Amino acid sequence: MNSAPVPVKQKTFNLLDFDREGLATFFVGLGEKPFRATQLLKWIYQEGVVDFNLMSNFSKPLRSYLQGNCHITTPEIVLEKLARDGTRKWVVQTGCGNQIETVFIPEESRGTLCVSSQVGCALACTFCSTGQQGFNRNLTTAEIIGQVMVAQQRLGDEKKITNVVMMGMGEPLLNFDNVVAAMNLMMDDFAYGLSKRRVTISTSGVVPAMYRLTQACDVSLAVSLHAVTDGLRDELVPINKKYPLKELMAACRVNAKIAPRRTITFEYVMLNGINDSIEDARGLIKLLKSVPSKLNLIPFNPFPNTIYTCSSNNTINRFKTLLNEAGIVTTVRKPRGEDIDAACGQLVGQVADKSRRHLKLKTVSAEYAV
Ligand code: SAH
Ligand code: SF4
Repeated sequence: MNSAPVPVKQKTFNLLDFDREGLATFFVGLGEKPFRATQLLKWIYQEGVVDFNLMSNFSKPLRSYLQGNCHITTPEIVLEKLARDGTRKWVVQTGCGNQIETVFIPEESRGTLCVSSQVGCALACTFCSTGQQGFNRNLTTAEIIGQVMVAQQRLGDEKKITNVVMMGMGEPLLNFDNVVAAMNLMMDDFAYGLSKRRVTISTSGVVPAMYRLTQACDVSLAVSLHAVTDGLRDELVPINKKYPLKELMAACRVNAKIAPRRTITFEYVMLNGINDSIEDARGLIKLLKSVPSKLNLIPFNPFPNTIYTCSSNNTINRFKTLLNEAGIVTTVRKPRGEDIDAACGQLVGQVADKSRRHLKLKTVSAEYAV
């Protein structure tokens, strides 16, 4: 007699979804001591061991429970690109035909990983290629910390990730819990041990979540400003209609008070004839005087069908000089990885839009089809 097929048991927990606190709660729930959390973090992030059977300081019954009910799964890289300047870009599969991108930018004294937080972005900033694709879903904590894991694996021992910026695809503060848990792991001494100065979250200004962040997680903050009047910012960064400049700057001041010795980095994309006049520079000086700030001018990265162009070098330099002369430390972001489209605003992947702003699956770069 043929017996009925036994259903394959679903392994329910991806243990990369938990930070130390989450793991401690998980182990206590199993009747184990909370210190199992640090032991597991060490196995995964320091020893690179993901086979529960090799975790020798766990009892046999615990190993067998983990083996039966849990897994440690990183996202899958489907394409790797290496630029002439050493910048590397990975296209990462996130299921259902969706892809995100992760970028490593090597410099003399550091290696910065630019990590994605969502598949697409719902905020629809008009100068941003990700924002033009619509939104599909939030990434899990495992998919966010997994980008750091797979990137470090690909880089090997020679190049180390010393800094992480949440500046890839998506608005990290709209995926709050998963992003905070992943950043906790980046800073945990038993995982990646990066200092809070080396982990930066970038936001277009989700004000309530900025307040929440000051309570939940002490990391460096970057704010995408891009305009100094509500009229123009409403157009470029539509979330400004909900949280206008006055509210945004108030949230920045509160954040600066919590971390007194740290400055907030303001990002400002240079759009030819749109936000790059002397008037704009003067407005910016006035706005930034109320917060300890650094300014990062980002040359606009064009993408197909955009209506914008980048300000000229002369204009960018004039802007920079005016700001520096007013005492605001201002730098111009050096374009990196241009030959592999690895710059800000060019992280596109492939997104099936669920926000109904667009109706079809968009393969923005055909070369990514696998
Ligand atoms: N959603 C977050 C983080 C991801 S975007 C945010 O908006 O801050 C990371 C940075 O790239 C932001 O400062 C964003 O404004 C900038 N950016 C987006 N599109 C760009 C483009 N086409 N050229 C230059 N910078 C761009
Ligand atoms: Fe989203 Fe940031 Fe792009 Fe705006 S700039 S659409 S918030 S990813």
